[in-house]
Amino acid sequence: MDDAGSADGSEGGQADTDSTTDSETTDTDSNTDTDTTTNSQPNCDFCQISDGAEPAAILYEDDRTIAFLDRRPAVRGHTVIAPRTHDEELLLMDETETAAVFDTVHTVATALESTLEPDGFSVFHTSGPLVGTVDHAHVHLVPRFEDDSVGLSLARRELESADAEAIVAAVREKL
Ligand SMILES: [Zn+2]
Repeated sequence: MDDAGSADGSEGGQADTDSTTDSETTDTDSNTDTDTTTNSQPNCDFCQISDGAEPAAILYEDDRTIAFLDRRPAVRGHTVIAPRTHDEELLLMDETETAAVFDTVHTVATALESTLEPDGFSVFHTSGPLVGTVDHAHVHLVPRFEDDSVGLSLARRELESADAEAIVAAVREKL
């Protein structure tokens, strides 16, 4: 799977130095420590972009999320949407945070739809040990065009009814 690794940086780099996270009163010599307010990780590209410490082509940002062009796009307009909080598990983090990320996916997709006029979108996220080099949770929003070379491969098989019943019963019990 795509290692999803790269934050953008090269194009249009508006190093937004918004100081909303800088107001805390901790001593400034400890800048290699974890930011206790935002959980920002000094060695995480996405945290650095979120903090404005690393340039990125930022399309959108708000209090909880940031959206920027992937530095190694699969297609034009390939966007990464990430929570500002450093967390490895997007789908298992606080429900409000997860919802905020997907709200931003919707916001940016709507804008990309009217600007790039793609034929559609692919949206994907991978978590756990299969993830590539970036462990800061993120979603890829990939505009799709008829002649693009994006391949998202799933080895499909038939759904077995007994297995389906077992999964439905087990999952519904948790919901
Ligand atoms: Zn991070």
